[in-house]
Amino acid sequence: HDLRNEDLKDMQELGQGNGGSVKKVEHVPTGTIMAKKIVLIDAKPSVRKQILRELQIMHDCNSQYIISFYGAFISDPNICICMEFMDKGSLDGIYKKIGPIDVDVVGKVALAVLEGLTYLYDVHRIIHRDIKPSNILFNSKGQIKICDFGVSGELINSIADTFVGTSTYMSPERIQGAQYTVKSDVWSLGISLIELALGRFPFAESSSDDSDLSDLEGTLSPSRPGPLGGGLPPVTPTKKRMSKAEKEKQDKKKKRKSKGVSLQGGGMTMSILELLQHIVNEPAPRLAPEGRFPKEAEMFVDSCLSKDPDMRSTPKDLLKHPWIEAARTSNFDLEAWASTF
Ligand code: ATP
Ligand code: MG
Repeated sequence: HDLRNEDLKDMQELGQGNGGSVKKVEHVPTGTIMAKKIVLIDAKPSVRKQILRELQIMHDCNSQYIISFYGAFISDPNICICMEFMDKGSLDGIYKKIGPIDVDVVGKVALAVLEGLTYLYDVHRIIHRDIKPSNILFNSKGQIKICDFGVSGELINSIADTFVGTSTYMSPERIQGAQYTVKSDVWSLGISLIELALGRFPFAESSSDDSDLSDLEGTLSPSRPGPLGGGLPPVTPTKKRMSKAEKEKQDKKKKRKSKGVSLQGGGMTMSILELLQHIVNEPAPRLAPEGRFPKEAEMFVDSCLSKDPDMRSTPKDLLKHPWIEAARTSNFDLEAWASTF
């Protein structure tokens, strides 16, 4: 059962990310519907093969909270990763369509992500590295699963080399160049949960100036960041790939918008740096306003967003949190909820 590109029939474009695009396809010999992620890798054939070898670990990732893997292959110059198709798409798409997500659902999302992260780490010693609403998928059976985790070190390197940009789900310690740990994923989960519950990216209104920070999502930064003490680790891009010309155009626009403030030399716009500085220097966002959400949900998010990673809980610890226990025993019907949109 080797997966071959010739056996896959394109059905529909599902979305575009930085790494490439995702299509709904049919595996014609078996009639299986899959999601095919096409990643453009600008690397030597030997590196491509190494990535392919590393991706095979995904065959052993069996959990109801992790997207299942059908296989991967090289289709020059791309690597194609075939995975389980989730018919309700990702949670960013869902809230953009239906608005803020019910806190009961958000609790179920937190539970599923924590279970997925704990499985990946305890069983495979894998750290996800890219928790955000677009990597949390939902289907009409009411299942919630995570995808796009960092199984392949070589793939992480190749993408970081090829694409520039920054992820705004990055924890303060990661922005400052510290080592990535499971706790960095917990920070990203906290930010994602607020985003789902509010129906908007949480940093958008906490800005100290009048520049529109929601606009920052996807702002490109230089590939070799100089500022921040050189502490910026490889960053994860957040939006569509842009051609150089498009990027320059957008950068110009951004500069105008932010009243011409732009760092010399690096081409990094001031506002993206401001956002990163904001994450490092300002208090973490919270589930607010006070009283709108259950106290236990507020407390859970607070513990995800401890700025000091030593104070932050691990996914495994958080599985014992009262809000998560409540989500586990709640009889909220996700399947029925899924049928409402
Ligand atoms: P980034 O590239 O910054 O990680 P992203 O996660 O949005 O952003 P992709 O991973 O390329 O980018 O995914 C693009 C879109 O395709 C996602 O937003 C999601 O809506 C959709 N998608 C991805 N995988 C699946 C899947 N298995 N089933 C259904 N839809 C999917
Ligand atoms: Mg993704």
